[in-house]
Amino acid sequence: MRKSFIAGNWKLNKKVSEAVEVSKAIKEGVINLSGADICICPTFTVLKSVYEIIKDSNIALGAQNIWYENQGAYTGEIGASSLLDVGCKYVIIGHSERRKYLNESDETIAHKTLSSLESGLIPIVCIGETLEERESGKAQKIIETQFSGACKNLPADKFSKVVIAYEPVWAIGTGKTATPEIAEEMHKFIRQLIKNRYNKELADNCRILYGGSVTPANIENLMKEPDIDGALVGGASLVPESFIELVKKSQNKQTQ
Ligand code: PEP
Repeated sequence: MRKSFIAGNWKLNKKVSEAVEVSKAIKEGVINLSGADICICPTFTVLKSVYEIIKDSNIALGAQNIWYENQGAYTGEIGASSLLDVGCKYVIIGHSERRKYLNESDETIAHKTLSSLESGLIPIVCIGETLEERESGKAQKIIETQFSGACKNLPADKFSKVVIAYEPVWAIGTGKTATPEIAEEMHKFIRQLIKNRYNKELADNCRILYGGSVTPANIENLMKEPDIDGALVGGASLVPESFIELVKKSQNKQTQ
């Protein structure tokens, strides 16, 4: 059974006081909602403060990035043990903004994914094609390459914990959500890739989130699709009312 899952990616937004205020409001708003897993992913510097607000609630904490070593001479990086130390359960890996601005390669993403799993963090691995790639008919090829790149050296028992986020780059922060049909086609394709690489059980159990301009106005139609298990949400996760609404509208979808 796949339980729906709504994760908020706050990106480079919110100082401590704002993050505390928003997480308090979200906590209040989702207090009685148990039909979806919920996670918020703030910036590193506010993780601890947010954790203090949500630690006894139904909201989990996630980070937006990780380094693949736990300690050592890696200036500016944060490893799994530091993230676990401040209460993180999840970590976003391979977001397209990091692939674009920081040149993150599939190789790096594979290291980060394996390292987070070995340390007990659940990776939310992002894959998605650009507009140019879609328009030239390469969307599935790109997704296949990114998926197999991220899963390189990942045995089945480790993969069983992974959450995948399909995030078409052309839909992120643009207001151009993929239609439910396009999103479903890609989610179904990703599930088939999991089945081919691992097995049917892992494919059936893996949660695949859609990301790209998700709002309270479009979540219901996306969630109607059989292979869409939730959303990774950027902009709309920064506003408590929107995020709460997204969680409400994703309740109790039990797939499979
Ligand atoms: C994201 O940051 O992963 C994202 C999907 O952003 P937005 O919802 O703003 O498009």
